[in-house]
Amino acid sequence: MALPRAILFDLDDTLIRAYAQPEEAWRRLLGTFAAPLEAHDAPAIEKVRVAVMDEARTLWTDQATAAKWRLDIPGARRLTTRRALSRLGYDDEALADRIADAFTEMRRLEYRLYPDAHATVDALRQAGVRLALVTNGSSEIQRAKIARFDLEHRFHHIQIEGEFGQGKPELAVYRHALEKLGCEACDAWMVGDNYEWEVVAPQKLGMCGIWYDPLDMGVPETATAKPTHVIKRLGELIESS
Ligand SMILES: [Mg+2]
Repeated sequence: MALPRAILFDLDDTLIRAYAQPEEAWRRLLGTFAAPLEAHDAPAIEKVRVAVMDEARTLWTDQATAAKWRLDIPGARRLTTRRALSRLGYDDEALADRIADAFTEMRRLEYRLYPDAHATVDALRQAGVRLALVTNGSSEIQRAKIARFDLEHRFHHIQIEGEFGQGKPELAVYRHALEKLGCEACDAWMVGDNYEWEVVAPQKLGMCGIWYDPLDMGVPETATAKPTHVIKRLGELIESS
């Protein structure tokens, strides 16, 4: 892969490990609420986990609803956990909120920078590539991650949905970032883990969509677009150039 003039990077589950593999995280978290949930064995915990994740999937699958709640993920977790507990016959919204908030905090504590993230981004910048960080979500939560993982000074442009006013996959999002970097779409890559946001939408503009697949999930069966490249480690971006 010859390097392009500009690269737009996704943040969550691309540069940092943030929300991937929620099953294990929910199982662990719900285990700590076994007493108030009166869920005293693994199948009882599993029943709650399935209901909670089911409600979350329903909320996040609807695009308009998802676009609204992306700016308040802790609020979305409270809502879906309340719905799940209520469906299972618990009449305790305060308990649902405590569980949702504990999950939010557990996830926050467990964010991790992917080990080759800094080195890759720095090498690309060193090579003269113009770099943008383009992330969905609220200003407060995304800015906290950017500061915590020392990312701000590494990018020429940082664009957060909650600040810009639009999020991926709106084409205006990519257009604005390209304009800020002074680069044409045909000479730019978008790199990230979300198939719609980082492959399908950017390719509509003529950008290359580089799909990051660190957990080796494989291209979704329903995919209509084909990624320009698939990478399993960020370091692959510089190794072959
Ligand atoms: Mg992502």
